[in-house]
Amino acid sequence: MSITRKWAAKQQRALEILIRLQRLYPDATCTLNYETPVQLLVATILSAQCTDERVNKVTPALFARFPDAPAIASADIQDLESLVRSTGFYRNKAKNIQGACRAIVEKFGGKVPKRMEELLELPGVARKTANVVLAHAYGIHQGVTVDTHVKRLSYRLGLTEETDPIRVERDLIRLLPQPDWENWSIRLIYHGRSICMARNPNCSSCALADLCPSASEPQRHS
Ligand code: SF4
Repeated sequence: MSITRKWAAKQQRALEILIRLQRLYPDATCTLNYETPVQLLVATILSAQCTDERVNKVTPALFARFPDAPAIASADIQDLESLVRSTGFYRNKAKNIQGACRAIVEKFGGKVPKRMEELLELPGVARKTANVVLAHAYGIHQGVTVDTHVKRLSYRLGLTEETDPIRVERDLIRLLPQPDWENWSIRLIYHGRSICMARNPNCSSCALADLCPSASEPQRHS
């Protein structure tokens, strides 16, 4: 098969997977709790190396005391550290959320910027966090969110041979329609949590098995 036809077949398979994921998880949404773009940004920074469930236990007290960028920017760093402690790497995370909020106040008029390049200037913000914030706070799809689940499943599903998140994102951007970039990520995260776990994926119960090369090639599971 020519490279062009192979690519078209892969694109077609990606679309079928997307349709199936939408049927499987029709109500999938961001599982972090927040009320404003700043709170979403902070919650997303805290979710690095941590579950959304754990972050959602921490943010009510954090946002009750420091609800917006000016409040977090001027908070005592030790207060922030103790409030986010249970999310892990708390010193770094406290430093980043304060640094990000200070930059938001000083450079962006107190509002989370809507441009990828500007978001990437904020401490603790890489493309994954920026994509989540743009998509869920503003409905802007500038990239595909690639977290550990999206990276693992996209590889297992044979849609990328890459393992670096930036390269995985580049492949997914070429394969998927832009309006569905975040639909893809959110639903793949649900599937990664419930069926296609890092260890022991449940291929025999997976509704994507007939579209997934790893169902019959367990060596792709790693
Ligand atoms: S068939 Fe197996 S490897 Fe493929 S998506 Fe489903 S659970 Fe994951």
